[in-house]
Amino acid sequence: MFYSANFNGMTVIKSDLFDKYGIAHMFSTVKDTKRKTVNGVNFGFREGFPYEETVDSYKKVADYFGVNFEKITKAAQTHTDHIEKITKNRIGMGISKETDFNDTDGIYTIEKNAPLCVFTADCVPVLIADKNNRAVCAVHSGWRGTEKKITEKAVKIFTGELNIPLEDIICAIGPCISKCCFEVSGEVADVFEGYENASVYKPNGKYNLDLKKINTDILLNAGIPKENIDVCELCTMCDNELFYSYRRDGEKTGRLGNFIMR
Ligand SMILES: [Zn+2]
Repeated sequence: MFYSANFNGMTVIKSDLFDKYGIAHMFSTVKDTKRKTVNGVNFGFREGFPYEETVDSYKKVADYFGVNFEKITKAAQTHTDHIEKITKNRIGMGISKETDFNDTDGIYTIEKNAPLCVFTADCVPVLIADKNNRAVCAVHSGWRGTEKKITEKAVKIFTGELNIPLEDIICAIGPCISKCCFEVSGEVADVFEGYENASVYKPNGKYNLDLKKINTDILLNAGIPKENIDVCELCTMCDNELFYSYRRDGEKTGRLGNFIMR
């Protein structure tokens, strides 16, 4: 189950499954009663959001995790299924130093005290961890990443390279655009034909797609036990008090941050 919590004025969303195993994590919202921001708490370096404010957002997240700001690493997201390992020399890339991995929508690490970040504005953030806290992974899975099964690739890294048994892998599917709001064309709906109840047809000729359900099915098909998958019910497009939404607000919208640390 997901719930909202408060960290020094900042509203964050958390998974009690990850809490149970002591995995440090959080999904951001736009809310922080202790900070004055132009358009809410934002993690994307972009127009309309003052640079210093964005840096301060990362600094507050660093406080939340009890580390220095330079320890946070962010993926360079372009809707691929590419996943990179964050080794010691890569810590901080994408935020406080230049990145050497482009087109990367998933990052994982075995390093301690080095939070990983993917940002989203409707796409599906998936955090993956090991019950025994040997590795953590952050994945950005929009419909294109979902089509390419990026979450299955992440699971394979855990079971293969990291030698972590399937029953020890836990996954949290965070706040994202939900079936209520995610309207797509027939062409996009067709891509996910193989998944049960993935979409519903509407009188306007479009479909509403359920990316949470599809990503859950991909994880189940990869062998993750059902009880090891926590799915957030919140919809980023429905809830404008808490979330940015690309579909609702367009390109100018901010970015939510989704973080996990070993
Ligand atoms: Zn919705």
